[in-house]
Amino acid sequence: MGKFEFLWAGRVILLLLLLQLIPGILGWGKEGHYATCKIAEAYLTSDASAVVKSLLPSVAKGNLSNICSWPDEIRLNYRWSSSLHFCSTPDFRCNYDFKRDCHDTKGQENRCVTAAIYNYTMQLMTYNDSYSSKRYNLTEALIFLAHFMGDVHQPLHVGFLGDRGGNTINVHWYKTHWYQMKYKLHYIWDNLFIESAMKKLYSNDLGVMIKSIQKNITDECSNDLGKWGVCATIEVICPGSYASESIRFACKYAYINAMPGATLNDDYFYSRLPVVEMRLAQGGVRLAAVLNGIFGSKSLFCNIEITS
Ligand code: ZN
Ligand code: ZN
Repeated sequence: MGKFEFLWAGRVILLLLLLQLIPGILGWGKEGHYATCKIAEAYLTSDASAVVKSLLPSVAKGNLSNICSWPDEIRLNYRWSSSLHFCSTPDFRCNYDFKRDCHDTKGQENRCVTAAIYNYTMQLMTYNDSYSSKRYNLTEALIFLAHFMGDVHQPLHVGFLGDRGGNTINVHWYKTHWYQMKYKLHYIWDNLFIESAMKKLYSNDLGVMIKSIQKNITDECSNDLGKWGVCATIEVICPGSYASESIRFACKYAYINAMPGATLNDDYFYSRLPVVEMRLAQGGVRLAAVLNGIFGSKSLFCNIEITS
């Protein structure tokens, strides 16, 4: 290898290394949050939809889905919000316990995604209360709630503490070249499942993928999927249940066969993709359910037309 090639190869490797550093604990990637919110928008009642539109900033152009990734983009400015995107269980514990698991890295209680969902739901409930609503920025509350409802459904956002929800597990994703870098398992679940599904199955079009997920929801609405939007108790929202489901999916699917250094390919992808798509759907349906519960005069999940 001549000097020039050596330098060039070095630069490529450095660039690849830098690219590896960029993905951190974000949440579903941009596409995942867009999909969750797009699905939610289709299930909003007209009352709830009108309130949501009135709260959106102009940059959203009337669509909640356009702004659902915003909490990831402002994390450096809103440092206090970093711990609100996830929660972690002790290693190899496949259940979620609010008291045990909802704290930040310094042990401060109630600093996690499920508490954030409760908090922003409570803020939005003051919408019709002219005195209390002024205490909160309801535009931010809406966007944070929509975002965190997506995050809590990503199984590795309720992963093990020791590996930071799969962030310290580096694996290959469809390794085809010797120089191909590893990805964090967390990043694969945030982004690469959706990216690969779009390429392999949906003509590289997120809209086509979302329509397919919506069709699955509609097809199965007569079965138990209709219960997605309903909590076991009378609560309007039950983030602890969503977190419990996530850690169970993490244990049963995300961590299995994903040891550090493993190469994940079609076997892993096709057996887990239905879980990814179902979690996007559940996040969307439940976000709509809670917004309908807060802002709508009635609450509907199944037997309503998908409007877009
Ligand atoms: Zn997030
Ligand atoms: Zn993430």
